[in-house]
Amino acid sequence: MTADNPLEKEFLDELVQANLLIPTGVAGLYGRGQVFEDVLERFDRFITAGAAGDGAEVIRFPPVISRKDFECSEFLDSFPQLAGSVFSFDGTEADHAKLLDLIHEGKDWSEHQSMTDVVLTPAACYPLYPMTARRGAVPRGGHLFDVFSYCFRHEPSGDPARMQMFRMREFVRVGSPNDVVPWRDAWRERGAKLLQTVGLMVATDLANDPFFGRGGRMLAVNQRDQQLKYELLIPICSEVKPTAVMSCNYHQDHFGLLFGLKEESGETAHTACVGFGMERIVLALFKTHGLNTKLWPASVRETLWA
Ligand code: ATP
Ligand code: ZN
Repeated sequence: MTADNPLEKEFLDELVQANLLIPTGVAGLYGRGQVFEDVLERFDRFITAGAAGDGAEVIRFPPVISRKDFECSEFLDSFPQLAGSVFSFDGTEADHAKLLDLIHEGKDWSEHQSMTDVVLTPAACYPLYPMTARRGAVPRGGHLFDVFSYCFRHEPSGDPARMQMFRMREFVRVGSPNDVVPWRDAWRERGAKLLQTVGLMVATDLANDPFFGRGGRMLAVNQRDQQLKYELLIPICSEVKPTAVMSCNYHQDHFGLLFGLKEESGETAHTACVGFGMERIVLALFKTHGLNTKLWPASVRETLWA
């Protein structure tokens, strides 16, 4: 949970009032109104148009990942606090009666749930690495993918820009370091340009992931030292602490080693991804240009309503 910022509550109230976000009673879990969704889809198409010449292979996964692949990804080593696993009922009729009793009594019914084979996707690119490994050796020149998914992160917050379920559009590159690093660096500029074209004030900065625990602090320092993660930041509820609306990440051979991703030469493949936080971009647009899309600057309307 982030410390309370009155501007977060104020902006959230405005968004709810305007029927852009629809509260559910759970912090960070919202329905999206028609106008919110329309803007999100328009920005999504704007990304598609911007990357049209790249020839990325489009793949869409449902917002869950196989538990085996999730275990293999080591997400739980680094971010146990964020993961959400799917549990379900698989007992007898007698167990069912006990489950209902507990619910009616307002008690904890988790003992009647057991783990399923799926986990909620924490980042849109996660199902890609095991899939790519199953395809065999990475061809010369590497792979380029385009993925889009709702993602889950257990980080309940009153900040409308920190949701528990949100969408990530990602481009993912798999290949040699020479294939992936310049590509990631070029996207830092491309991403900033796309955001500037719709009138957003973007800053780029080095960043680190929220690694868990004391050991995690070392990992975060390392990640910064090696310049593995850059974020594109826009002020939404704070000028001092702008919000990351996009990240450009170089994983080195992390996923390659975990999933056995190999180049034709036998070298372990390297990977990088660039992720657009779709809800955050839409929120930045509403914050910057106002809640009434008809009053947005003409240039922005021309771009998104082309
Ligand atoms: P943060 O530092 O804000 O927690 P992150 O570094 O964990 O973000 P990434 O893992 O890089 O985020 O995810 C890619 C993008 O997804 C982010 O740049 C952001 O735009 C978006 N995103 C991440 N977490 C959330 C969230 N809880 N709610 C909405 N969007 C999010
Ligand atoms: Zn990713």
